[in-house]
Amino acid sequence: MKNHTMMQYFEWYLPENGLHWRRCAAQAGRLEEAGIDMVWLPPAYKGAAGAKSVGYDVYDMYDLGEFDQKGSIRTKYGIRDEYLAAVRGLQQQGIQVLADIVLNHRMGADGTEVVVADETLSTDRNQEISPDRTITAWTRFDFPGRGGKYSGFQWRARHFSGTDWDEGAKRKGIFRFDGKNWERKIDNENGNYDYLMGADLDTDQPEVVKETADWGKWYLDTVQMDGFRLDAVKHIGFDFYREWLKTMRTHAGREVFAVGEYWSRDVNKLRYYLDTLERSLSLFDVPLHFHFLEAATSNGNYDMSRIYENTLTGLDPAHAVPFVDNHDTQPGQALVSFIPAWFKPLAYALILLRDAGIPCVFYGDFYGIPHDRIAPVPGLKTLLRVRKLYAYGKENLYFDDPSVVGFTREGDAEHPDSGTAVLLTDSVAGSKRMYVGKQHAGKNMMDAMGGISESSTVGEDGWAEFRVEGGSVSVWVFEKAAEKLYIEL
Ligand code: CA
Repeated sequence: MKNHTMMQYFEWYLPENGLHWRRCAAQAGRLEEAGIDMVWLPPAYKGAAGAKSVGYDVYDMYDLGEFDQKGSIRTKYGIRDEYLAAVRGLQQQGIQVLADIVLNHRMGADGTEVVVADETLSTDRNQEISPDRTITAWTRFDFPGRGGKYSGFQWRARHFSGTDWDEGAKRKGIFRFDGKNWERKIDNENGNYDYLMGADLDTDQPEVVKETADWGKWYLDTVQMDGFRLDAVKHIGFDFYREWLKTMRTHAGREVFAVGEYWSRDVNKLRYYLDTLERSLSLFDVPLHFHFLEAATSNGNYDMSRIYENTLTGLDPAHAVPFVDNHDTQPGQALVSFIPAWFKPLAYALILLRDAGIPCVFYGDFYGIPHDRIAPVPGLKTLLRVRKLYAYGKENLYFDDPSVVGFTREGDAEHPDSGTAVLLTDSVAGSKRMYVGKQHAGKNMMDAMGGISESSTVGEDGWAEFRVEGGSVSVWVFEKAAEKLYIEL
């Protein structure tokens, strides 16, 4: 058994040169070596912004860079054959591929329709401010560039619940189409957060249920991906993905991993969603991301003993995907909440070396973000190696101090030289005694992060004293393991 580690293989400002799928294929071997065994790829289908689209402004989900639509054949990332080759290349290295599924909305319609709609208040979508308005909505999706290949389905206003633009009056608003309700089982931010952007899919409409299932089956058959990353789940009726995932898994006839993006710092909302979905998926641990942000911006006054309190990693680790940052939290993006550089190695130690959930590494942290002159996170590759090789065995937690906290893994027989001790502080330097196991008595341990140069010796009782410099993390591995790490890096 090897630890699973996910990587989000894109950031917002990748160059728009169509080379990303080829980069994925070329890097597959190195990713495997680095300890990555799951890769989340960006939305692969044509967006409204064509070759400039990151992928969340979905136009045609059957166009994986194959048809001359929205100004180009290729997407930002390349053409269909390159995408399929990237998936195969990753899978050949034993890496599972997760496809990004965006079913909440459509954008870049081919034409408009005149519809009757109730305008609702942006800050409380349950409040109608202007009923029965006649508006001109961008809701006709004919896909003329594809000409019916793979599917003849065309989208019309009846497939959507609402939109945010009246082309007739050239006016923005939150318009709910006549005869439609916002989803009832949905996040309650803004009163009702069914509507996010674009033309919002009405997932109660039988034709929509059928088309999203037909498309999913086609996508599974075409790409043979290993799992899904589900976008914006809090904006889609909570029963929808429960049924869609069942349909996909039945069709695939195998395990299909799924992780959902429910963007809320309230862990109870996440747990309610997991309950509704019968725990058939995992969720990104958004509350933990915000704890990292708070800890990183509190001048050493954050209570580190509570860092996992009210997080998914703390309460339901089997369904948690802890992460540090992503394409939405990076500078310049919608949910910007980027974790300051000094705290990043601490945050990564807290998600990568614990025995909890499947952690997700952000592309922008691994490679840096040239667009904003952000450097790769120092020590991240070391942490990944320690996770892959040594973070095994029984776990002991020492979250017993407001500043200096830590944990150990006792190692196991299956992984040579495994076992580790992690100590970190958001404040001044400190030390702590932690238990690593009597079987390790007399062995020396060294800080793989390099902050502490003196080794620490495990006593007859299996305990050792570990040190950490101020505002940093030390990651202790056995001498033999340290030698191996240094030789490899
Ligand atoms: Ca919606």
